Amino acid sequence: MSKPAPTNNPDESRLWQPDFVYAALLLAVAIACLTVLSAKTGLLANEYGLGTAGFFIVFALFTITTGFPHPVFGYVSMDRVAQVMSILILGPVDAALVNGIASFIYPWHRLRLGVPFQTVLMAALNNAGLMIFVVLGAGTLYQYLGGAIPVHTLDLGAGLLLLALVVCMQVINDVGMMIFVYLRQGDPLSVFNPFTLVVELLSGAAGIVLAIAFANYTVPEFALILAVLAAGMLVIMKYALMRSRLQNLVDERTEELRVQAEEFERQATHDNLTKLPNRRHADSFLQQQHDRVQDEDHVGVIALADVDHFKRINDNHSHAVGDLVLERVARILRKDCRKTDFVARYGGEEFLLYLPCTNTEQALEVCSQLRLAVQNAGWTDLANGLAVTISFGLAEITGTSLYKDVLNEADTRLYRAKNEGRNRVIAA
Ligand code: GH3
Ligand code: MG
Ligand code: MG
Repeated sequence: MSKPAPTNNPDESRLWQPDFVYAALLLAVAIACLTVLSAKTGLLANEYGLGTAGFFIVFALFTITTGFPHPVFGYVSMDRVAQVMSILILGPVDAALVNGIASFIYPWHRLRLGVPFQTVLMAALNNAGLMIFVVLGAGTLYQYLGGAIPVHTLDLGAGLLLLALVVCMQVINDVGMMIFVYLRQGDPLSVFNPFTLVVELLSGAAGIVLAIAFANYTVPEFALILAVLAAGMLVIMKYALMRSRLQNLVDERTEELRVQAEEFERQATHDNLTKLPNRRHADSFLQQQHDRVQDEDHVGVIALADVDHFKRINDNHSHAVGDLVLERVARILRKDCRKTDFVARYGGEEFLLYLPCTNTEQALEVCSQLRLAVQNAGWTDLANGLAVTISFGLAEITGTSLYKDVLNEADTRLYRAKNEGRNRVIAA
């Protein structure tokens, strides 16, 4: 059986939610069907008796336990072995009873793992109800179509009926699981999974082989076959567990490497102090923009901004205060620019702004506001008497201009802004 990975349901503790009501109703209706059908045949009325029923419950529990975690499905087990075998030996009614009991017992060990009582109860109700339907429904159909119980041989006719039995079990199981997953607000289609289908069909085939062995061999011979098969199942389970742990490890490491690579990339392209893109990144960004946008209509502005008399700030107030000034200037520039504008730390106390789809007039307006925002940022909280201003040099890009030339032009204008008294924007 495959069970969905647990969903994060905040209402888990509330009993009367749709999935719980469904699970309770499912088991109630299943028991009613079992009672009606057993009225004809009687329960455990055949030659095998209580001892055999006990063995089947234990074996069913063993096959449910031989499961392994699955990334998509949560949990996949080989319990179909016991279900098919018990149908073909005990008949559908007794088989439904023993497998229903085993499915009801199994989830309770999860209490020890800290799973809430309500969740475990719901799993027990749903598993037992669905299992009774699967075994009773498919087994009765198999018998109705003329399938032999106990089955002795495997000719073509018997083979086709057994195939119908296994497929029918799968269909009832999947429909039930889809309803349950849907009520738990999961994706019902997640029930279909080629891997679990193969496990369930192979488990069904193993159940058929065991049932035929039971009918044809002595008890010690059958016990030997059963022991070999059980050992095989345990090996498969260990292998699948190992594979799943390995896969988890690989996934974890891959994620760690991805995060690390992202961090290296960020460190190589960004400045640690201001968190803005660094000069290298700015140069390659401008080159990319230039390569990408080559049409005549493309306009944009590059602005170079430089903090005025920054050396004095360092000298008068300490290098640490200088760093805080750079951080705050960077924040002001970034905050007051559009999202589409590019702001980088281009040198010590020099910043580069790339304002796309902007003409000189608009850029002059923007940079004048930025200049005022820096001037009025209330610097005295960083150091007594601290004042900070910034100068800008602007140059317009057209589709054909080389960005290096535009940068040089902006730099020349910034130089002029410094010479003309600082704290100003020069755009022409
Ligand atoms: P101007 O108005 O002409 O631009 O004068 P200025 O003093 O700002 O220019 P100058 O180039 O003479 O000095 C820049 C100073 O910036 C020198 C350097 O020590 C300092 N500096 C560069 N990077 C950093 C930094 O990361 N932190 C600090 N605190 N200072 C820096
Ligand atoms: Mg400066
Ligand atoms: Mg400078």
